[in-house]
Amino acid sequence: MDNIIDKLRQVRRGAMFIIEGPSGTGKGAICKEVLAQDPHIKFSVSATTRAPREGEVDGVDYHFLSDEEYDKLVAEDAFYERVDSQYGHRYGTLRREVDSFLNVGEDVLFDMDWVGARQMKEKAPDDVVTIYILPPSFAELRRRLEGRATDSAEVINKRMAQFRDKVSHWKEFDYVIVNVNLDETVCKVQKIISGERMKRVRQVGLQAFVDELVKESEHE
Ligand code: 5GP
Repeated sequence: MDNIIDKLRQVRRGAMFIIEGPSGTGKGAICKEVLAQDPHIKFSVSATTRAPREGEVDGVDYHFLSDEEYDKLVAEDAFYERVDSQYGHRYGTLRREVDSFLNVGEDVLFDMDWVGARQMKEKAPDDVVTIYILPPSFAELRRRLEGRATDSAEVINKRMAQFRDKVSHWKEFDYVIVNVNLDETVCKVQKIISGERMKRVRQVGLQAFVDELVKESEHE
């Protein structure tokens, strides 16, 4: 039986899950937990020109690039999507990063803003699933942002000032979760992922499987 499940997985069509929400909603922690618990979903490491925060590792959290390196990749058309003015920095998704996972049937998880989510949804409407995370209150969001010792007061203020602009896009997303409790939110994200995986269009190996079932039934 396991054999059949493995076979079906090998030929399934990978999906792209985009997680977005205002800064400080806990997107990073949610993504980390989902990835730690599911070996079949991989994180798309974005490129950015912002400096690493304490504890962030190059190539794991982001590909941290200089403006020159980023420009070079733009010239090479190496990005699926990018935003060039987020809090004074640039962020983008590298094609090679995503394709390396989708080509082997793995799902991909993105921590991406609504501009990028919209671009990705337009490019691949059937393969992109978007999830919006809301904070339980603005006070909580402020507390979480101020708890990030590595961001300057200026950056924190910029992020809070952009709250209303960011939150105004929540209706563009397929799913919405209020992140009251990390464990519960992670569980909800996992349910979305497993539901999406079961969609008929993603299980491209099913036709052969059903054909086989029918053939077997003919020998009865
Ligand atoms: P942070 O600096 O807090 O890590 O991220 C700032 C914002 O940039 C977040 O809203 C995050 O989702 C977004 N972001 C990170 N990587 C990408 C990316 O590759 N593309 C786009 N469009 N946004 C990104």
